[in-house]
Amino acid sequence: MYAVIGAGPMGLAAARTLQKQGLPFTGFESHADVGGLWDIANPQSTVYESAHLISSKRMTEFAEFPMRDAVAPYPRHDELKRYFSEFADRFALRQHYEFSTRVVRVARAPEGEAGWDITTERADAPRPDAARPREQRTRRFAAVLIATGTLHHPHQPALPGAFSGRVMHSAEYKSPEVFAGKRVLVVGCGNSGADIAVDAVKQARSVDISLRRGYYFLPKFVRGRPIDTLGGAVKLPRRLKQLVDATIVRLVIGRPSDYGLPDPDYRMYESHPVMNSLILHHLGHGDIRARRDVASVQGSLVRFADCEQDEYDLILQATGYALHYPFIAREALAWPEGAAAPRLWLNVMHPGDDTLFLLGMVEASGLGWQGRYEQAELVSLYLKRLAERHPAALALQREKRAWDGARVDGGYAYLPLDRMAYYVHKDSYLRALRRHLRALGA
Ligand SMILES: Cc1cc2nc3c(=O)[nH]c(=O)nc-3n(C[C@H](O)[C@H](O)[C@H](O)COP(=O)(O)OP(=O)(O)OC[C@H]3O[C@@H](n4cnc5c(N)ncnc54)[C@H](O)[C@@H]3O)c2cc1C
Repeated sequence: MYAVIGAGPMGLAAARTLQKQGLPFTGFESHADVGGLWDIANPQSTVYESAHLISSKRMTEFAEFPMRDAVAPYPRHDELKRYFSEFADRFALRQHYEFSTRVVRVARAPEGEAGWDITTERADAPRPDAARPREQRTRRFAAVLIATGTLHHPHQPALPGAFSGRVMHSAEYKSPEVFAGKRVLVVGCGNSGADIAVDAVKQARSVDISLRRGYYFLPKFVRGRPIDTLGGAVKLPRRLKQLVDATIVRLVIGRPSDYGLPDPDYRMYESHPVMNSLILHHLGHGDIRARRDVASVQGSLVRFADCEQDEYDLILQATGYALHYPFIAREALAWPEGAAAPRLWLNVMHPGDDTLFLLGMVEASGLGWQGRYEQAELVSLYLKRLAERHPAALALQREKRAWDGARVDGGYAYLPLDRMAYYVHKDSYLRALRRHLRALGA
C-alpha cells in the first residue's frame, strides 16, 4: 500500500496515476476537501479573492480532463476549485482519501523492516492542550508520495528596523478591505505582489511598491489570445528566443523603466516573469508609485535605497515562500542543511531511495498541472515497473543513483535565488520525463 499526502493538483495527479497503474494507495489531506491552495477555504491556501490563473487554462489543465469551453482563459480560483472537485468526481478519487487528516510524521520503518511509518491526527479536532493531546494514529506504507505544496510557508525577511504600523505577508492576504484608508507599501513584485498592489488601489489612501530588482512584465493577452499560447510552433535557440521575446515585449509594452521601475539586469526567462499589465497601467496613472529597496524602517517612516522616504500604515511583504516539510527528516529528502531545496533527480526522486517521492517541487514557466501530472505518471509507472523488475525501471534506478546533481535548466542561467532553486526549463523537463515514460512503456 502506498501513501499520498495532499489532495491539491499534484496529490490528485499522483492519486490518478497510481489508480491508472492499479496500485493501491491511501491519501491524506489536512483540509476537508480536494483542490489544494485553489480552495480559498483551505486554511493553508495562499490565494486571495482576486486570484486568477497566471498561465492560461489550455496550457495548465490536465490533458485527460480539459476545462469546459465556457470557462474563461484565465479563470478565478473558485472556478479552479470546481475543476478539481469535478476531476476527483470523474475518477472517483475522493474515496481513497482521508480528509481533515494531517500527516504529522513520516519516519523510516525501524532497522530491518521496510517502508515508512506515517503518523496522522485529525486536523479538525479542537486545539490540543496538555491534558488532552490530539489523538494520533501510525500506519506502515511501502512508499510515500509527498505532495503538500510549495507555496504555504512564508519567506518573510525581518524589516531593517521597527515598524509601528501593521506588517503582513501575502500568505495572510485575502481581500483589499485591509487596505481601506491606509498608506500601503507592498514589498516585492512577483505575481502575487503585483496582483495585491493592483487590488489595493481601489481601497488604500496610497499604494507604493518596493522592488529590489527588475522584472520582465508580460501582458496576459496579445492579439486577443493568451500570451502563453503564442509562438510555440517555432522553436528558437535559447539566446535567440530570449532576444526575440524581450524585443517583442519591449515593442508592445515598453521597458519597466518607462513606468518608473528598475529594468532587469538579467536576460528574459532567467527568472519567473510577472504576468500582469494592470500594474503598469496603475503605475502610468500614478495610482501606484514605484520605490527602490527598503533601506531602513523607523516608526511609520520607511527609507529607500535611493534615500527617498515616506510614511506608511501597512507594509505587505510579498516576499515569497520557503519549502517546508516539517513532518520528515531533511536527510530522508536529500536536503542538506543550508540548501534552498532538496536534491532530487528530476526534482522528484531520491537518488538512492525508491520508496520516497517529493512531488510538485518543481516550478517552470508554463509547466501547468499537466507537467506535474506527467511527473506523477513517471513515479507511478516506475513503482509499478520496479515491482516487476522491468529492465527499464532498473536502468532508471541506475541512472538516478549515478546522477551528478545537474539540474534541468535547458542552459538558462537562472538567478541564484532560493525561489529559483527548484526551477526547471519546461521543454527540457518534459522531454526528460517523456523519455523515461516511453522507456517504461507508457
Ligand atoms: C496566487 C497563485 C497563482 C498561481 N497561479 C498558477 C498558474 O497560473 N499556473 C500554475 O501552474 N500554477 C499556479 N500557481 C502555483 C500552484 O502552486 C499550483 O497551481 C498548484 O496549486 C500546486 O499544487 P500542489 O498540489 O503541489 O500544492 P497545493 O495546491 O498547495 O496543495 C497541497 C495540499 O496538501 C495539503 N497538505 C499540506 N500539508 C499537509 C499535511 N501535513 N498533511 C496532509 N495534507 C497536507 C494542503 O492542505 C493542500 O491541500 C499559483 C499559486 C498561487 C498562490
